[in-house]
Amino acid sequence: MPGRYDVVIAGAGIAGLSLAVLLSTEGRYSVLLLESGSAPGGRFRVVERDGYLLDWGVHACLLGSRGAIGNVLRRCGSPVRIRPAGMAVFRDGRLLPFVGERLLSVLGQKVLKAASLARFGSAALTVRGKPSYDITVSGWLGRNRSGEDLESALKALSIGLLATDRYDRASAGELFAFFRQVMRRGVAAGYPEGGWRPVLDALLETVKRSRRCEIRLNTRLGRVMAPGNRVEGVTAGGEDIEAGAVVCAFPPQSLAGEVNIDPPLPDEYRHRLSSLEESVGLCIEMGLSRPVTGERRIAFSVDPPALLWAVSNASPAVAPPGKQLLQFFSPIDKEKRDDRAFIAKRTGELLELVAEAFGASPDEEFRRVMVTTIGGVVPFAGQSRPHRPGIDVPGYDGLFIIGDGVNAGGLGGDLAARSAIVAEPMVADYLDNRAG
Ligand SMILES: Cc1cc2nc3c(=O)[nH]c(=O)nc-3n(C[C@H](O)[C@H](O)[C@H](O)COP(=O)(O)OP(=O)(O)OC[C@H]3O[C@@H](n4cnc5c(N)ncnc54)[C@H](O)[C@@H]3O)c2cc1C
Repeated sequence: MPGRYDVVIAGAGIAGLSLAVLLSTEGRYSVLLLESGSAPGGRFRVVERDGYLLDWGVHACLLGSRGAIGNVLRRCGSPVRIRPAGMAVFRDGRLLPFVGERLLSVLGQKVLKAASLARFGSAALTVRGKPSYDITVSGWLGRNRSGEDLESALKALSIGLLATDRYDRASAGELFAFFRQVMRRGVAAGYPEGGWRPVLDALLETVKRSRRCEIRLNTRLGRVMAPGNRVEGVTAGGEDIEAGAVVCAFPPQSLAGEVNIDPPLPDEYRHRLSSLEESVGLCIEMGLSRPVTGERRIAFSVDPPALLWAVSNASPAVAPPGKQLLQFFSPIDKEKRDDRAFIAKRTGELLELVAEAFGASPDEEFRRVMVTTIGGVVPFAGQSRPHRPGIDVPGYDGLFIIGDGVNAGGLGGDLAARSAIVAEPMVADYLDNRAG
């Protein structure tokens, strides 16, 4: 392949890989996908341990097969199925069903009283524009004089879906916008059959098959050259590479910090990117020698703040036969990420939660505990959808940014893939019309 590409995409996470698939299939454009790490996937990777398949990052597939990841898989012609998964709230020692595998099951939900469910549904249907996103979960609850049922539900959903228990900062609009999508598409979440590895493999095989996409690992995008503010190429791995367009597919803070843009980004824009905050969480995977539960739903708890999922019930392939894989996630303040005493205490609380929720103390074969960045930009009110950077980097021709920190709608991995879907026609249009 010559040292000139239509597009250089930097970052081979869900966003970068999805865009590489969308642009390179049918041989439309030549794509160079750069990845600074030693393997593709970013926060979308699977680690094998003692016969268990552990998700490194993305766990639940939001909006199931009807979400953006399902859409990209269909574009790959992949047969991987994403099976629907329900959601439940753990309250007063019981797991209460909320959204089931099908939307209609909401009629049997036990989390909200009928009046609260109507209020929740109406907020989801009317979420629109900045004011809806700027109101925090606490602010919305105060303004709507909500009962305890609505309060605990919104808090639990904020933990499970927005990855934060800062209800005074979390955007209520992001939650309602997600549920508007759930109402439209009829499914809240899912999990791929066989776990996430077949999904990653499907994306990688598709880009390889296209023959117009090259992936370079261990190669960091260092500089974007844009004389006269029009992209002409990049410097990566010590090499200058010509490119018609450049797409940065990593959290926007890195564009402001680690990558040199020549000429530099305007100070105000750079400051805006670098001040965006990420979400941080404590993640635990536990391999059990015997199953403790047949529960298939993803459970959210407020105290301790946690998401809890017996993921091998959703896809038996991720645990050896007769064993069970549990996943936990608990949001924490980023200042606490190195506080060992705090992490040990929260871990203990989460273990008690398993015993309480499933009525059994697990017989653990192993436990993996990690504290890591979850979402590139946590959906706080001031950095929710309307406040996020757009895909087009302003002031430059041919420079774009995608990933789970941009204004494309959605949350987590679904947002990352959606940003690629939204970016595809923008990049294609730019490449097709940039003559002169
Ligand atoms: C433990 C955990 C649990 C999660 N659970 C869920 C969940 O249940 N559901 C959900 O939807 N989401 C979940 N998420 C979030 C989800 O994983 C992310 O939203 C998604 O993977 C982000 O994809 P991305 O492509 O935007 O970014 P990334 O995955 O971060 O990819 C960016 C890539 O860019 C590379 N890179 C960075 N800088 C450069 C450079 N200068 N040059 C070249 N390459 C570069 C990085 O190495 C990385 O591979 C979870 C995340 C974690 C960590």
